[in-house]
Amino acid sequence: MSMFLSGTDAQKDRYLRQLCEGKKLGAWALTEPNAGSDAAHIRTTATHEGDSWVLNGSKMWITNGSFADVLVVFAANDRSLGARGGVTAFIVEKDFPGFKVGKVEPKMGLRASHTASLFFEDCRVPQENVLGQVGAGFATAMQTLDIGRCGLGASSLGAAKEAYELSVKYAIERQQFGRAMADFQAIQFKLADMAVKIYAMEQMVYDCAKKVDRGENATLESSMVKLFCTEAASQIIDEAIQIHGGMGFSRELPLERMYRDARVTRIFEGTNEIQRHVIASELLKRAGHKIKLY
Ligand SMILES: Cc1cc2nc3c(=O)[nH]c(=O)nc-3n(C[C@H](O)[C@H](O)[C@H](O)COP(=O)(O)OP(=O)(O)OC[C@H]3O[C@@H](n4cnc5c(N)ncnc54)[C@H](O)[C@@H]3O)c2cc1C
Repeated sequence: MSMFLSGTDAQKDRYLRQLCEGKKLGAWALTEPNAGSDAAHIRTTATHEGDSWVLNGSKMWITNGSFADVLVVFAANDRSLGARGGVTAFIVEKDFPGFKVGKVEPKMGLRASHTASLFFEDCRVPQENVLGQVGAGFATAMQTLDIGRCGLGASSLGAAKEAYELSVKYAIERQQFGRAMADFQAIQFKLADMAVKIYAMEQMVYDCAKKVDRGENATLESSMVKLFCTEAASQIIDEAIQIHGGMGFSRELPLERMYRDARVTRIFEGTNEIQRHVIASELLKRAGHKIKLY
C-alpha cells in the first residue's frame, strides 16, 4: 500500500505489478525492538552516500519478513528533524547486500504467516529506491496504516460472521434437555448480541472504506473501525466457543484457531490503546485542542 500511495511510476512498474500479480511477496517494516507503539522514534538509520543510501539497524515483528522479495523499510535519515521530516521510506530487495533475516517468532496464532526480525548492516539501497520524498516516510507510514486499519476491520468482520454462522447452525442442530439449543433464551440472546455487533461492524467498515476509496482523510474512522471491529470480533468468537461448549474448545472445529488468531488484531496495526489515543486526539483537534503523541 505504501508503494501504491507514494511510489513513482517506475517503482510501481518494477515492483508493485509483480506484487499484485502474486509473483513476488512483500513486507512492510516499521516496528523495531525499541519502537513499537512509539513508531516515531525508530533507530534504524539511513545515510546518504553518493548515489545510494546506507541502512543500519534492525526491525522486529515483520510479517512475511523471512519470505519477502521486496520490503518497504522505514529509517531515520535526520533525527534532528523528528519523525515528520526526518524519516524516509525505502524499497529494499531481499538480495541487497547487508540485508539479513533473523529469528522467526513462534506465535500464539496466525501460524500460517511468518513474523521475523530483520537486520540491516551497511545495507546499500540505490537512490531510485527511495519511496516518496526524503523525509516524508512517517507520513506515508501513517497513511498506509489508515488504510490498513480499515482492512483489518473488514477481515475481523469476516471472522465474526463465520463464528456467528457456525453458532447459528450448531445451536439449531445441537439438542440438550430434549430441545434444540436455539430454543433456550440464553443462547438466543448471545446470537442476538453477536448479530447486532456484526451489523454495526459492517456499516462502519463500508462507511470507512467509501472514504478511503474516495481518497478522503479517514484517520478517525479507520481507527474507530480497527478498535471496534477487532474488539467485537474477539467477543463474538469467544461467545461462539461458549455456544459450542466443549466442541468449541476442540481443534476439530476452526473456532479455537479463530480465537487465537483474533487476539493479535488488538495488538498489531497499532494497539487498541493507541487507537483510543488517535480517536481522542482527532476529536479534540476538531474541538480546537491539540494533543501530541507523535
Ligand atoms: C503477529 C504480528 C505481526 C506484526 N506485523 C508487523 C509488520 O508486518 N510490520 C511492522 O512494522 N510491525 C508489525 N507488527 C508490530 C506491531 O505493530 C507492534 O507489535 C505494535 O505496534 C505494538 O508495539 P509493541 O509490540 O512494541 O508494544 P509496545 O509499544 O511496547 O506496547 C506495550 C503495551 O503498552 C501500551 N502502550 C504503549 N504506549 C502507550 C501509550 N502511549 N498509552 C497507552 N498505552 C500504551 C500498548 O498499547 C501495549 O498494550 C506485528 C506484530 C505482531 C504481533
